Amino acid sequence: MQINGIHHVTAIAGPARRNLDFYTGVLGLRLVKKTVNFDDPTTWHLYFGDAGGNPGTILTFFPWEHAAPGRLGIGETQETSFRVPAAAMGYWTHRLVSHGVVHDVPQKRFGETVLAFRDPDGMRLALVGVPGSEAEPAWEGGGIPAEVAIRGFHGVTLLLDKAEPTAAILAEVFGFAEAGREGGIVRMRAPGSPVGGIVDLRGAGGFLPARMGAGSVHHVAFRAADDAEQARMVALLTERFGLRVTEQRDRNYFRSVYFREPGGVLFEIATDDPGFAIDEPADSLGGTLKLPARYEARRSEIEAVLPALD
Ligand code: ZN
Repeated sequence: MQINGIHHVTAIAGPARRNLDFYTGVLGLRLVKKTVNFDDPTTWHLYFGDAGGNPGTILTFFPWEHAAPGRLGIGETQETSFRVPAAAMGYWTHRLVSHGVVHDVPQKRFGETVLAFRDPDGMRLALVGVPGSEAEPAWEGGGIPAEVAIRGFHGVTLLLDKAEPTAAILAEVFGFAEAGREGGIVRMRAPGSPVGGIVDLRGAGGFLPARMGAGSVHHVAFRAADDAEQARMVALLTERFGLRVTEQRDRNYFRSVYFREPGGVLFEIATDDPGFAIDEPADSLGGTLKLPARYEARRSEIEAVLPALD
């Protein structure tokens, strides 16, 4: 069966070490790949996820030591949320308080308890208590017991001028279906995808446009099983919606195309294959700096300019 949903989310961060410390030490995600920005090999590209870096759990960052903060606005991801067992919300509230993490009072959305908070760069995140998610696999990191650990993405909330054009792309290209409306949000869900299966569309006409910077989501990637599935999606985007899509780029761990969806958010379609165990063993993911073949000859030069992580 075709599995749809979010493949990964990529955001911009400030100092790399602070970013690494927060996502592994406070949130307990696994660092699944330590590589460079393939378009700028003097900067890090850090990938966090579950034990195997499975699609639907992968949050990645381009950290720049002196990145200016972004400004939330139209055409951007407003919030990125993680799934945790419903019984774990008390644990997480306590944990965020004890680590001095800026957070809101828990609220109900679509019947689920949501604890919104910020990362050190001001990125808007949330933990969502999802009944039944305790049965899903978890990575035990940061001293967090498996029974309360993050289970990958719940979803993202996009801030848009109008929800409908983006909803049409999600439905007709990525297999999502509308799953409800509440408080100005149209909830789109990918059937059969518990992890990374939700995209909430918040229509907020008249808001200022977004300005990218530290704390901003750069793009949201959706899953395609393989090249054939990706090509089928590209054909729909170009022929049915008249959108321009980039050529495929090899990102080593997946193959990607990019396009600007009608609401202004940068979308990517990333293949599920080959995954993160292609260049290091699954049990030591993230252990050493991995470079694409074209940069290997420059390894010592690159290692010398990358900011220290420890
Ligand atoms: Zn990406």
